[in-house]
Amino acid sequence: MYFRIVNCIAIHLILSYQVCSMKSFEFTAGRTFLLRLDHGKDLVEQLKDFLKEKEVRTAFISGIGAVISAEIGYYDQKRREYVKKRFDERSEILSLSGNVSLFEGKAFPHIHIVLGYDNRIYAGHLFSAEVFACELFVVELAGIPPERSFDEETGLNLW
Ligand code: ZN
Repeated sequence: MYFRIVNCIAIHLILSYQVCSMKSFEFTAGRTFLLRLDHGKDLVEQLKDFLKEKEVRTAFISGIGAVISAEIGYYDQKRREYVKKRFDERSEILSLSGNVSLFEGKAFPHIHIVLGYDNRIYAGHLFSAEVFACELFVVELAGIPPERSFDEETGLNLW
């Protein structure tokens, strides 16, 4: 009886696994870096240069700091294009998080940011930002790197 129940659960788990179409990747912790980005330079470009120099292809990104200006946006799901907006207010980076995967063979950071200025909040997908001061954690994920490619369903480059 006990074995029948265990077998039933095992078969159920196998079937559940087979019908699940969600993609997942497993990694082990790699190197961990703490970066202080240069004042006056672009946040995303500095990060890309660092990833290239250290040969990081998959990572978790987190950060705080302040920006002089930024270009952020959101993805218009119906029109299938990004809507960008530039902010010239000197703002706090209240939250910055993202990941790194491969796109066209290169390390590609995908970053979202929450900026705070004079009790107002701006948030979205980060395209660029002129750094005032910024501290970033880059946690490398060791394993086979996910690779982005065009996804018909969303119009996005997903892994
Ligand atoms: Zn995004």
